Amino acid sequence: MNIPLMNLKAQYAKIQDEIQQAVNRVLESANFIMGPDVAEFESEFARFCRAKHCLSVANGTDALTIVLKAFELQPGDRVLTAAHTFIASAECISHAGGVPVFVDIDPQTYLMDSDKLEAKVKELKNRNIPVKGIVAVQLFGQPCDMDAIAAIAERYGLFVVEDAAQAHGAEYKGKRVGGFGAAATFSFYPGKNLGAYGDAGAIVTNDDKIARLAEMYRNHGRARSMKYDHEIEGFNSRLDTLQAAILRVKLKYLEDWNAIRIQNAAIYNSYLRDVPEVTLPVVAMNAKHVYYVYTIRVPHRDELKKHLEANGIATGIYYPLPLHLQPAYRYLGYSRGSLPGTEKAAVEILSLPLDAEISREEISYVCAKVADFFRK
Ligand SMILES: *Cc1c(COP(=O)(O)O)cnc(C)c1O
Repeated sequence: MNIPLMNLKAQYAKIQDEIQQAVNRVLESANFIMGPDVAEFESEFARFCRAKHCLSVANGTDALTIVLKAFELQPGDRVLTAAHTFIASAECISHAGGVPVFVDIDPQTYLMDSDKLEAKVKELKNRNIPVKGIVAVQLFGQPCDMDAIAAIAERYGLFVVEDAAQAHGAEYKGKRVGGFGAAATFSFYPGKNLGAYGDAGAIVTNDDKIARLAEMYRNHGRARSMKYDHEIEGFNSRLDTLQAAILRVKLKYLEDWNAIRIQNAAIYNSYLRDVPEVTLPVVAMNAKHVYYVYTIRVPHRDELKKHLEANGIATGIYYPLPLHLQPAYRYLGYSRGSLPGTEKAAVEILSLPLDAEISREEISYVCAKVADFFRK
């Protein structure tokens, strides 16, 4: 057996004809920048998120940076986020002129702990340090406790941005991610629940002002259709027409593929429930989890990873070194022990192969190999 973490080749085989038609249509039109598929994709993805606006951009990191720019951070302004995430969740804060502050996670869900978030905000306020916002990372496929985060934001006058790069279609209290806070950002990196065939991203918002700013920032500060009128300095961060056309094909399947991911996670749970060393993923209260990754927690994680690899099973670690311990953030002065929940998770978590392509036989094989390892 040879089981990849996610099987993009098998996914492509299922939709090959449709993708090739879409790609050919764009190639024949020779309309590669801001062609009609871009605006079509944006309105379709906004509808999927049940939000008013979607502005596509070149990748998920730019989506975050552009949204954060809208809040006009001043030097020294703090924005809180998790350390148990991809670096883009924090890079955007620095790139927008602020300083990231890392909050520990709930050890069950791996999501930012809202009590710890509030404690941190209080502590900063007490020290007269300016705090402006929160980047809530909807990690692994499920949303943070958005009511608690909204209440904290309201109490202390902070903005909330959702980093929803891993949570296309996830819900909190029946409402889709993308509709909480001032704006949400998505990545369509190839392996994400909705993935392009290259880099791609989007900003989703119900706020007209943020939508207008995002539209300018992603395209050199241009107001729409004004080729050489630049109201502000922006970026070159447009989504290619080709990627938009590909994303339009794949968006039609996203709902079904998410449903299969959820079923596959349930199959994993049913097999792994009997292995006492394995802590299964926990679905947060009020959350619909769409399983960007299926992550277990185990003792002897690195040995288990080697054992699975020796048996042809690919695994992932999201994330092995938390952001507060990364060399890039050494200047912030964190050390080991600063965020114990995050640090403990980093050495125990392991993501097993999961997507809409993996078969029940493959899942059963993976689980048998996990069980074998702990029996020895
Ligand atoms: C993938 C990802 C991003 C960034 O997306 P890119 O499209 O690769 O720039 C941001 N945040 C999180 C949590 C991600 O997983």
